[in-house]
Amino acid sequence: MELITGVIKSYDWGSRRTLAELAGRPSPSPTPEAELWFGAHESSPSTVGESSGSITLIDLIREDPQTQLGAQCAEAYDGTLPFLLKILAAEKPLSLQAHPTSAQAEAGFARENAAGIDLSASYRNYRDNRHKPELVVALERFEALAGFRAISSTVTLLTALDLSGVADDVASLAANPCPAELKAVALRWMRSSREHHDRLALEVIERATVLLDSGGWIVDRFEAELSTALDLARRYPGDPGVLMSLLLNRVSLAPGEGLFLPAGNLHAYLSGSAVEIMANSDNVLRGGLTTKHIDVDELSSILDFTPIPVDVLDPQPCDRRSEYIYPAPVPEFVLRRWELDGNLEVALGGDGPAVVLCTAGRVEIRAGDHQMEISSGKAVWLPAGDSVTMTATDGGPAQVFAGSTPG
Ligand SMILES: [Zn+2]
Repeated sequence: MELITGVIKSYDWGSRRTLAELAGRPSPSPTPEAELWFGAHESSPSTVGESSGSITLIDLIREDPQTQLGAQCAEAYDGTLPFLLKILAAEKPLSLQAHPTSAQAEAGFARENAAGIDLSASYRNYRDNRHKPELVVALERFEALAGFRAISSTVTLLTALDLSGVADDVASLAANPCPAELKAVALRWMRSSREHHDRLALEVIERATVLLDSGGWIVDRFEAELSTALDLARRYPGDPGVLMSLLLNRVSLAPGEGLFLPAGNLHAYLSGSAVEIMANSDNVLRGGLTTKHIDVDELSSILDFTPIPVDVLDPQPCDRRSEYIYPAPVPEFVLRRWELDGNLEVALGGDGPAVVLCTAGRVEIRAGDHQMEISSGKAVWLPAGDSVTMTATDGGPAQVFAGSTPG
């Protein structure tokens, strides 16, 4: 096992406090800190080792993929680490987005390569040929939009909002409450002019404010949805994401609760901090709440317009009383969490690699004679086959996450 150092990504939606305070650094930080990456992604690989002689995790794996990843993982993923583990710290909403299936990513990547679009071009949709399923687990209250809401509920909300600019769309959705009509409405909204959305944002602000002040049944049922639309309309006037937010499930995760985002699920993270694990891909198709490239045709071709209820993962501790497993129906990763106290020792190890990340307290990790102690915000790389035991130090408690390949 080796200490690995994550890379901080300074996007403008990041918090100046969360990651700094998690790691015990001076807060607020000089710049917004949005994400802390632990993995072997080409754009920001973690470094391995504590001294100036450290190397990137990519190079460590490349030198001996069989030892680092295990034979099965090395073979299945062509000698690369199949997952990326992050801490997210969102002060402001992230873009509205969805990710392709593996087949869509392969086809899209090949198509853009054949068209001669540079890999770093801002208007490129597919930066690799892999899918990007992702799973978030809240560290503190984490707010998000994810998947299309049941159409009947959406009609109720939009009818109460009574926005004159979309009255025809609400009527057609009420008359035809099916995914095809939902898709038609969503496409019209995403293709509308900035001026149209500017006017609608003003209407959303006015109508949502009136409804929220009224305190009636609509507020009992849709307070979070109305507050989010109001907030987005103020932050992003002219952006289709304001209206699109009204079609999506509003999700609020308590600490420890998780959410899996499969391919085709339209989502936006709004605020809060979370541990996130994902397949090692950069394929993001955006639909709003951003100044980055939006390709409505490509996004709509991968979106799943079937309304789905939110499936919040709230695992119970399994056989070991402190271990929580977040199942994800993908072969690239599994995420586990431990709540350790001073007396509990847990074992971790498997046929594949793992990244062990401390998110609260301090934890001692032992592999044979070798031991190291990591504090909140620090992580350790476990090559395939390494077995370790973990114990909270300083009397505990400590919180630890491990991303690994399944099995
Ligand atoms: Zn995403």
